[in-house]
Amino acid sequence: MNEQDRFSTIVDKVIQFREARDWKQFHDPKNLSEAICVESAELLERFLWKTRAEAEDLSEAELRAVTEESADVMIFLICLCDALGIDLLDAVETKLQLNEAKYPADRARGTAKKYTELE
Ligand SMILES: [Mg+2]
Repeated sequence: MNEQDRFSTIVDKVIQFREARDWKQFHDPKNLSEAICVESAELLERFLWKTRAEAEDLSEAELRAVTEESADVMIFLICLCDALGIDLLDAVETKLQLNEAKYPADRARGTAKKYTELE
């Protein structure tokens, strides 16, 4: 299975999970955007108060928790895109093209400056 087919299968599983529970009624774009923020905060919480070194050397349990929160973010992102008719893979490709224009490699390489500050 190629990556695009795998992604489509995952999207179908997320939608089936939601449909089996009749949760679409709660999944308006506002609620889903909020859910993405909440799950992102849960992901961030896993790193709260850790040093950079500690954050890069997670225990097995910590990595499992980070993995689960990452999945939660992705699941709600898939639901949001479904609610709004957004093709997420197309959106990522388009955004990468926009970012390529904003951050040309020859000017952005090795710097964390915002595109408006690049020389
Ligand atoms: Mg969570």
